[in-house]
Amino acid sequence: MLSLQKVSKTTAPHLARRAPAAALQVGRRQQARGLATPSEPYDAVIIGGGPGGYVAAIKAAQLGLRTVCIEKRGALGGTCLNIGCIPSKAMLHNSHIYHQTQHDLKKRGIDVDTVTLNLPTMLKAKEDAVTALTKGIETLFRQNKVDYIKGTASFISPTKIAVKLNDGGETEVDGKNIIIATGSDVTPFPGGAIEIDEKQIVSSTGALELQEVPKKMVVIGGGIIGLEMGSVWSRLGAEVTVVEFLGGIGGAGIDEETAKQFQKILAKQGLKFKLNTKVLSADKQDGKVFVKTESAKGGKEETLEADVVLVAVGRRPVTTGLNLENIGVEVDSKGRIVIDDQYNTSVKGIRCIGDVTFGPMLAHKAEEEGIAAVEHIKAGHGHVNYGAIPSVVYTHPEVAWVGKTEQELKAAGVQYKLGKFPFLANSRAKTVSDTDGQVKFIVEKETDRILGVHIIGPNAGEMIAEAVLAVEYGASAEDVGRTSHAHPTLSEAFKESALQAYCGKAIHF
Ligand SMILES: Cc1cc2nc3c(=O)[nH]c(=O)nc-3n(C[C@H](O)[C@H](O)[C@H](O)COP(=O)(O)OP(=O)(O)OC[C@H]3O[C@@H](n4cnc5c(N)ncnc54)[C@H](O)[C@@H]3O)c2cc1C
Repeated sequence: MLSLQKVSKTTAPHLARRAPAAALQVGRRQQARGLATPSEPYDAVIIGGGPGGYVAAIKAAQLGLRTVCIEKRGALGGTCLNIGCIPSKAMLHNSHIYHQTQHDLKKRGIDVDTVTLNLPTMLKAKEDAVTALTKGIETLFRQNKVDYIKGTASFISPTKIAVKLNDGGETEVDGKNIIIATGSDVTPFPGGAIEIDEKQIVSSTGALELQEVPKKMVVIGGGIIGLEMGSVWSRLGAEVTVVEFLGGIGGAGIDEETAKQFQKILAKQGLKFKLNTKVLSADKQDGKVFVKTESAKGGKEETLEADVVLVAVGRRPVTTGLNLENIGVEVDSKGRIVIDDQYNTSVKGIRCIGDVTFGPMLAHKAEEEGIAAVEHIKAGHGHVNYGAIPSVVYTHPEVAWVGKTEQELKAAGVQYKLGKFPFLANSRAKTVSDTDGQVKFIVEKETDRILGVHIIGPNAGEMIAEAVLAVEYGASAEDVGRTSHAHPTLSEAFKESALQAYCGKAIHF
């Protein structure tokens, strides 16, 4: 039920006339379509319009559930579309073209006289992509008959939600099923030692908005976001130093051999790395930021000077203001909402998906969970194969993987074989002069079943889809090695790596 019970900005007796426009729009649409009525709760209420929430909402409506999505940002698409995947990929793509034009075109026989960066236009292109895509979801909501409320949700009871409307005023929504999909936000630097101002000391959000190219940039954290944003500004001319506490880059889940190759390639591109190094503080002085570090094992202090510092030390779940404690939804020590294998929280009728609960913080993982959670509501079953969720780093070359790493299999005592094929031996990579990297297959020794695939190379993020499908279907390396792949394509490196894994020999290497 959507009722306009409290309208804070007015004392007028005629609530409908004075109620905020957004709420009224929903109310009129409901009447027109015969969706939820004042006496009838929604079948599905989704809190959060990110990739988890908006996909869940569309799927729920497609399955015939009366659905409403509540989003506070004022735009749909969540972190991913507004300040994450989409704007970062726009900047990665265009900064790559700029860098390639400057440093790579000459040897391809293309002489370009002067290359100048027009940063405002590049930022605008990013904004245009974001706006087009977020508006596109509004259209999808209309097409699928999902009601959309712009406001901040808070639980009154396990079935009733108060919404503080962005346009002013409040409303209440009742739901038979509620899905929490409130996502994540930036983790502040531990202990509050570094304060983000989004100008000189930025999070990923500020790093997507810098109005000029910093001369020197320090990136705290060598995970995916740090490496992607570091690459963008390095390509645009910044001298970038990545400081990482651990002994390798790429974050959790990356194959160690791949991470080492990746670091070498990025170093060749000009990024500097300080591994096993702990950041102690970052202080602003005379227009600069001074980043104090020490060896992770203690001792050996150093101060790095920067124009801009990017703090990329992770993301944390968002549950603030939901009033979970009062309705008894359990949250773990890391702030993640606790769920069972059907996405049920500790309170009946309330489910949870995406970044705000367990698992990798990835848009496609949130989407899959959104669909599975809705299928549980509608049909009583739904499934996500967490062993087949790919990860991609959208640098150049890209890094992509799915399934197990060598280090994980060693730790578990699993016997495995490897297949490796370098892009240097791939005809298409040679043709387009893009030969850094390799495809690596990890297969079970006894059965030849594919356990993991790790790619570093051009278009790895697209190529990994074939590996995901193979893992999903329980394919063997022989299955892939005997499958015809078009020539000349990068994907032949994928086939050859599988071939090497199952019979010990590739054809072209
Ligand atoms: C710079 C960057 C780059 C990234 N790149 C990638 C990538 O390339 N690929 C990838 O897979 N992932 C990427 N991610 C991660 C990806 O963005 C997240 O995993 C994904 O957005 C999670 O989706 P979600 O729906 O769980 O949450 P979110 O996208 O965070 O959406 C949650 C939404 O809920 C809303 N909300 C919160 N509380 C309330 C409330 N009380 N009431 C109403 N609304 C509320 C928020 O406003 C938000 O819009 C990136 C992230 C960042 C920061």
